[in-house]
Amino acid sequence: MTKLTGKTAVVTGSTSGIGLAYARAFASAGANVVINGFGTPADIEKERSAIETDYKVKAIYSPADMTKPAEIAGMIELGEKTFGSVDVLVNNAGIQFVSPIEDFPVEKWDTIIAINLSSAFHGMRAAIPGMKKRGWGRIINTASAHSLVASPFKSAYVSAKHGIAGLTKTAALELATFKITVNCISPGYVWTPLVEHQIPETMKARNLTREQVINDVLLDAQPTKEFVTSDQVAALALFLCGDDAAQITGANLSIDGGWTAE
Ligand code: NAD
Repeated sequence: MTKLTGKTAVVTGSTSGIGLAYARAFASAGANVVINGFGTPADIEKERSAIETDYKVKAIYSPADMTKPAEIAGMIELGEKTFGSVDVLVNNAGIQFVSPIEDFPVEKWDTIIAINLSSAFHGMRAAIPGMKKRGWGRIINTASAHSLVASPFKSAYVSAKHGIAGLTKTAALELATFKITVNCISPGYVWTPLVEHQIPETMKARNLTREQVINDVLLDAQPTKEFVTSDQVAALALFLCGDDAAQITGANLSIDGGWTAE
């Protein structure tokens, strides 16, 4: 079992969904964690304090906005100043927007590229010097099945996720001799607020009912006909942090119920 006692993990977009599952999994292995993302102060405090109570580690919150490079660097600095190191960085924050290209709002394109792709570059840029100095690190990027295949009406998301797969490989090669691994995890559909929120947009873009979107669009992509769970994704991330995963780097690991096998 992976042990992360004495280590610090920063997880972007961890006030909800997959990110929160990552933060809780790392804390369960003994890591102190920096959580990040949006939400009401009360909800964020509830999740932060639950991590400390449940796992007897320290958890702090960074309000860094993943569209703002200086705030991303500040989040890494906060982790290093508070805990002495940032050993695990998970670039996970992401948003979705569904629309035909000709109607796709330009500002939505820019925001999705900023949050889903550029923020990972800014986070790595800030965290790598410390990891190199200490001679150990794990960088995990949440990509998506959409880093390997496309779907119509998701131009910005698919572009950002293909980009993050390339960024992962590049960083893995640059860091290969520093005991720092860089991988991406590519989930299929995981039932989280991100998926729930795209249902009305997909109903509109494809002229379908809610049930048709769930069964004929979302689960249709997944041969198992089941959603992936956030905990399953988090368990894979925790494995990547362990010694057994030291030679896994530059990989794009699918956890998608067989979606991309088709
Ligand atoms: P979610 O909506 O539950 O969580 C997204 C998180 O990102 C939240 O904490 C939110 O506050 C945060 N966030 C959004 N904009 C931000 C910003 N500007 N700055 C900081 N934080 C911001 O969604 P999720 O499904 O858990 O998604 C997490 C990641 O998993 C995303 O990168 C997503 O693309 C990826 N993913 C999700 C699925 C899925 O089916 N849910 C599948 C494949 C990949």
